[in-house]
Amino acid sequence: MKCFNHHADDAVGICKICNKALCPSCTTDTGYGLACSASCAAEASNLDEIMRKNKLLLGIGSKRKSIPTGLLMFFFFGIMFSGFGLYMTLAQGRQDYFLLVMGLGFLAIGGLGWWRNRKINLSC
Ligand SMILES: [Zn+2]
Ligand SMILES: [Zn+2]
Repeated sequence: MKCFNHHADDAVGICKICNKALCPSCTTDTGYGLACSASCAAEASNLDEIMRKNKLLLGIGSKRKSIPTGLLMFFFFGIMFSGFGLYMTLAQGRQDYFLLVMGLGFLAIGGLGWWRNRKINLSC
């Protein structure tokens, strides 16, 4: 394969963004792959940033599985509501269905969200 810009020279690599074959004098090594121009180098670094963030978001490469922050809210509200509801029921002898239903609802939705997140390995 010959260089896209210099038809006499052999290509040594391909631009990561536009897939042009490049000779050594046309190539810039971005650290994430080869690029043919400054704009392709910028695009390659953007692409790398997206990949890096996606990996973090999807928990790729990390062994530790923590509870996502959004779901912590559901569990917090669920425990607060149902805890207070149980306290009202047991200590005060007053059935507070509103608190109990809210608490169980939050816990159920939190659990469902957690299960869904685990299925697609999402960590947010
Ligand atoms: Zn390019
Ligand atoms: Zn060239």
